[in-house]
Amino acid sequence: MIENPTIEKFFYNVTKDIGLPFYQQPEAKATHLLYNIRPGRLLSVAITPTTIVERGGWRWLQYHEKRRNGWVQERALDNSEIRLLSQDDLPVQNQLFESLPLPIDDIHNVYYYGNTRFAFCCGDEHSYDEYSQGLHGGLDFGNRNGIVLAGVHGEFVESSTASFDPMHVKVKTDDGYCVLYGHLSEVNDELENNRVVNPDTVIGVVDANRAHLHLEVRYLDETFIVNPLLLMPPNMRDAIINKFDHIGVREFFSGWNEWQSPLDQPIIRRGGWVIGRKFNIRIGTNNARFFRNQANCLALDC
Ligand SMILES: [Zn+2]
Repeated sequence: MIENPTIEKFFYNVTKDIGLPFYQQPEAKATHLLYNIRPGRLLSVAITPTTIVERGGWRWLQYHEKRRNGWVQERALDNSEIRLLSQDDLPVQNQLFESLPLPIDDIHNVYYYGNTRFAFCCGDEHSYDEYSQGLHGGLDFGNRNGIVLAGVHGEFVESSTASFDPMHVKVKTDDGYCVLYGHLSEVNDELENNRVVNPDTVIGVVDANRAHLHLEVRYLDETFIVNPLLLMPPNMRDAIINKFDHIGVREFFSGWNEWQSPLDQPIIRRGGWVIGRKFNIRIGTNNARFFRNQANCLALDC
């Protein structure tokens, strides 16, 4: 007899709300709530055929932790609501980007995705809290007036002045991603006519005042934001990480023990609850001055 294989898989809690409830049985109505897992938390789940159940319109996962055992809703069976997402399941990992949007020699600095000190201290004033769960939702490449290339295969969606001023461009790929190029002063107007985008297609020009390209990758109808570094070939992302340290206001926020390196950052839900260290403080004190007093917020504006 063959034993059921066990695979350990890691999921991020990407619920919209305050947390993800555990239930004693995979039937929310029939059992009582055990515990709420806070948003952004990484869960390790041992997957076997008996630890995944489809019931009541949901796919449930059984979860064991030292002090807690229970069932959590991974997603609605019709995918109308997703509560747990595994980074392992992201399509075209390590290969979405065939080339960098800017040559690495023309990048002056890098502001990484995720749990940065700037996001913790000043993100509220820069809409991070309502937009990207209090974290930095993109990977910023410092540059002025550089020509931005797509770096990916896809289709032009739109250029807009609605956010990431002065202009941004969106490109959709076949794998469920939308790549956003933000803070452009000029957009290639041929994109409107020929919407097919290749890695060497010109997207636009980095605005000299904003002085950086905000590269953001959204996933599943733009509901989630993922770390662009995970979608780059190892040699490309290693070149970035080896060249650019996370220092000053760009460093990772160290007031706790998660999300301390360029690659271990969580999946973000657009418009979801603030996550990370700030979440705990918010719940307790909701004291805006606390954030401002934490550090000197330099004029890094992302
Ligand atoms: Zn940015």
